[in-house]
Amino acid sequence: LTILGLESSCDDTAAAVVRVDDLGRANVLASVVADQTDLHAAFGGVVPEIAARAHAEKLDLCVEQALTQAEITLAEVDAIAVTAGPGLIGGVVSGVMCAKGLSAATGKPLYGVNHLAGHALTPRMTDQVPYPYLMLLVSGGHCQFLIVSGPDDFSRLGGTIDDAPGEAFDKVARLISLPQPGGPSIEQAALSGDPARFPFPRPLMDRDTCDMSFSGLKTAVLRARDAIVAEKGGLTRQDQSDIAASFQAAVVEVLATKTKKAFKNYPHDAPRTFCVAGGVAANKAIRTALETVSTQNEADFVAPPLSLCTDNAAMIAYAAAEQCHLRGPDDLTLSARPRWPLDTAQPSMLGSGK
Ligand code: ATP
Ligand code: FE
Repeated sequence: LTILGLESSCDDTAAAVVRVDDLGRANVLASVVADQTDLHAAFGGVVPEIAARAHAEKLDLCVEQALTQAEITLAEVDAIAVTAGPGLIGGVVSGVMCAKGLSAATGKPLYGVNHLAGHALTPRMTDQVPYPYLMLLVSGGHCQFLIVSGPDDFSRLGGTIDDAPGEAFDKVARLISLPQPGGPSIEQAALSGDPARFPFPRPLMDRDTCDMSFSGLKTAVLRARDAIVAEKGGLTRQDQSDIAASFQAAVVEVLATKTKKAFKNYPHDAPRTFCVAGGVAANKAIRTALETVSTQNEADFVAPPLSLCTDNAAMIAYAAAEQCHLRGPDDLTLSARPRWPLDTAQPSMLGSGK
């Protein structure tokens, strides 16, 4: 099965060609990601209208590049997969329209894929992870513990009640004048910082649930920054690093502690695999801490390579390859959905727009 995937739900325009063999092993023949960081840099965040336009302009080109890199023609792919939500609606619409056009022109079946399902199934692309598995999906817009029991079977154990960690990394980077995206720049700055200098809050830690909160952490960083600025007029490089390290340490501790609770609340016995995915899973300090908790719970730990953690179209193509054994393709009424929680059914089963 060879699938062309399209992804345009946030600020990365992506196309990929993935081949999945009869044993379910994935081979990424091409994965093209055109990021829009430069376009949004002046605005301090992703501007939805600019993102949507850039997706509309770049999708064709990304598809062409992916096909060229994979040394395959459109006629040779078996299906077309596209992120149909959740995400910034203008971008999702651009992707869905492009995929519909390709499907209508070639007669290839079309699969609308949940972006979060793409992230959640990613560990199975590189490792033989059996269902069910416990996972932490931690990205720019989401943070949740899931039990993944099948390609379209997700149940949520708990998650953030306000901001997602990726969003917090990005906002904190902005507060202390580090470049976007904030995750990698905070991780880099934290390497030379003192994680104990600022005792940033770790909320909801004594609760037995997997609920988390990150908005107070952001506010605490703002206060710490303002205090330094009031005292010395600005941040030194060391101040930036210390804030980055202290912030990252708080996120690491919250995620590790809540992973312990997730293991406690995990209703299954063997097989025990714990996976992490989503953009924030690219963070090495977070990966290391989660691996330790996983080992303490005698579970195998799987973290996808960095290029598959952040947004990409290979995960969308792969999710469609898994899901097409469970459901038929979507037709041209497939709609783009700004919101689409993971623990609900496919859009084709729900009707449009809910
Ligand atoms: P969602 O998947 O929830 O819709 P998204 O697609 O925007 O959101 P991803 O692409 O999965 O999110 O992840 C992007 C986020 O990951 C950004 O907030 C970015 O700062 C964060 N990130 C990337 N690399 C790192 C890192 N090394 N450490 C921490 N965070 C990181
Ligand atoms: Fe994402």
